[in-house]
Amino acid sequence: MAWANWSGAQVFPEAHCEPLGTEAALQARLRAAPRGQRFRAVGAGHSFSPLWGAGDQLLSLDAFDGVAEAGGQLWLGAGQRLADLGPKLAGRGLALANQGDIDRQSLAGALGTGTHGTGWALPSLAATVTGLRLIDGTGTLQVLSDSDVLAGARIHLGALGLITAVALRLRPAYGLLERNQGVPFEALFEGQHARLRAQRHGEFWWVPATDETLFKQLREIPIPRTSRLTPLAFGEEGTRWGPSWAVFPSDRSARFNEMEYSVPVAAGPACFRALRSAILSTFPKLPWPVEYRLVAGDEGWLSPTGGQRVAAISVHQDARRPFAPLFDLVEPIFKAHGGRPHWGKRFSWSRQEFEAAYGAGLDRFRALRARLDPEGRFLTAGLAPLFGAPNHA
Ligand SMILES: Cc1cc2nc3c(=O)[nH]c(=O)nc-3n(C[C@H](O)[C@H](O)[C@H](O)COP(=O)(O)OP(=O)(O)OC[C@H]3O[C@@H](n4cnc5c(N)ncnc54)[C@H](O)[C@@H]3O)c2cc1C
Repeated sequence: MAWANWSGAQVFPEAHCEPLGTEAALQARLRAAPRGQRFRAVGAGHSFSPLWGAGDQLLSLDAFDGVAEAGGQLWLGAGQRLADLGPKLAGRGLALANQGDIDRQSLAGALGTGTHGTGWALPSLAATVTGLRLIDGTGTLQVLSDSDVLAGARIHLGALGLITAVALRLRPAYGLLERNQGVPFEALFEGQHARLRAQRHGEFWWVPATDETLFKQLREIPIPRTSRLTPLAFGEEGTRWGPSWAVFPSDRSARFNEMEYSVPVAAGPACFRALRSAILSTFPKLPWPVEYRLVAGDEGWLSPTGGQRVAAISVHQDARRPFAPLFDLVEPIFKAHGGRPHWGKRFSWSRQEFEAAYGAGLDRFRALRARLDPEGRFLTAGLAPLFGAPNHA
């Protein structure tokens, strides 16, 4: 059966995705595998980057979808979709502190590539991890809770093992009011991003074809009384509200490919202006927006924030069109502004570029990977060039 990612840019006609539903079954599968067989856990397939390659055996952990207390922690099944997790947490009076544009991702997949939303004071979802349960490359169950190890393991790229459950720092459930309005982008950069900073969640979208900017803000409100079937309420044009898990995601039915870089926040406005001028001169009719968000820094070894607050800027291209001409135009601009790519989106970085940007963090991740997976069971064709021996480069 064929496997394709969400955008359709990666298609593996011969792939077979094997569903496994218990930790014992995962352990048995790994231990019985012939030498040299490589495994890749798949989430919802919403990454744009080629994280694996032909020949890797795909495993679906969708059945790990529970929410259970154990050892004083709330463990969240790693295969469940964020869309399903939200209402379950709400039933316990809890919520994720932040979310991205959609809720179709699996929990482990979202963490694994550093998925984030927007918020001056809010880091990526991975930065809230307090525990991970995984089956490592030797088939051994590992429960990771040491904060230093978690700083390495939380953006895992599927390279450390098969994650079955995750513990997160959660917060009491809350509601959100969303408002969208046209604002010139220069106004959004005034006073060190004053308008974006003033929001719990502020971001903007700029559309090259119209040269217009839409400013989106999410304000925290008490949890509105809603029904599970109609959790969202709509008001005057551009506003809606509901429980946080229902307001964060937006409709993304039109398919695209995406490149995103995180640049130090002080470089964000200059980077955006350079992108705008390059795109207007080469793709003036591009109807796909450029998105501008803020993410708080975290010390994760593979965090694209590099420990500092960043502007995460994304460029989109229609999935039916070739993305290389647009992405080849903008990638040097991101690099010139000190950017690091989103692990789950398109980029063309060499091993040397990753080593220069991540330095000791990358070395530590390689050592952790080698300890948890000495035979390279998860060192798939997509990951080996970066995490394997240098001759893979
Ligand atoms: C329409 C759309 C909107 C998006 N919006 C945002 C956004 O707002 N913010 C943002 O930061 N990103 C965004 N992304 C990117 C997306 O969040 C990431 O690519 C995310 O990793 C996708 O999750 P997934 O479940 O599809 O994982 P996959 O793409 O299936 O897998 C991602 C990685 O996780 C690994 N993995 C998955 N499950 C497990 C497991 N159980 N154990 C071990 N490893 C596992 C895989 O092997 C792979 O390495 C968006 C993507 C799309 C298509």
